[in-house]
Amino acid sequence: MSKIHRRGLMLVLSSPSGAGKSTLSRHLLENDPGIDMSVSVTTRKPRPGETHGKEYYFITREEFDLMAKRGELLEFATVFGNSYGTPRAAVEKALGAGRDILFDIDWQGTQQLMGNAGEDLVRVFILPPSAGELAARLHRRAEDSEEVIAGRMAEAASEISHWAEYDYVFINDDLEASHKAIANILAAERLKRSRQTGLAEFVRELQADL
Ligand code: ADP
Ligand code: 5GP
Repeated sequence: MSKIHRRGLMLVLSSPSGAGKSTLSRHLLENDPGIDMSVSVTTRKPRPGETHGKEYYFITREEFDLMAKRGELLEFATVFGNSYGTPRAAVEKALGAGRDILFDIDWQGTQQLMGNAGEDLVRVFILPPSAGELAARLHRRAEDSEEVIAGRMAEAASEISHWAEYDYVFINDDLEASHKAIANILAAERLKRSRQTGLAEFVRELQADL
């Protein structure tokens, strides 16, 4: 099975801020050697603990606009007043090598990727168990001011309104169950016939030996 060449897939996780995307992404990357994270560029300032090149490439507005103009971004959008975008080169290199890529991007970026790379895309939307729990998680994360948290809660309804544009949707209540849900989605999607580009040749050889 491992000898059969497979086209890499693009796994997109979207949710309102605080529903658990980063937590679930971190776990997946630590436990699945076949998937890499797409590191976005952003004009937002780093939060305490964030490193350039790890969570994001933190760049200036001028650098961002230049990348967009040169077509170096696969998609880009404005979220909470800052610009975010996916560098094209890293994605194309990984997909070409048969590796899968994980994207933590919003609904606007997902729609653009759907236009550019629909066949390779697997879209997952994560819902919080309730509005109260979403607010509690944003407070517990303790990364943002009260004002920023209020802004994120105000944006949540708009992000959630796009839930039906995704292939898979689940409620991130029990963390273990959510880790399993993502692993199961990935396992099934990797077995899709259309992604297994080397399968026809394998079957031909198999038939020749029968
Ligand atoms: P996002 O990346 O979607 O903004 P985070 O992954 O940063 O969200 O999660 C927000 C907070 O909620 C973090 O403190 C995280 O530890 C917590 N959290 C995530 N998933 C769960 C869960 N299933 N149960 C309880 N807390 C969770
Ligand atoms: P944060 O500032 O909390 O890291 O991210 C804010 C929002 O921007 C999240 O919803 C996240 O998914 C989204 N985001 C991060 N990177 C990108 C990107 O490259 N493109 C798009 N469209 N959204 C992004």
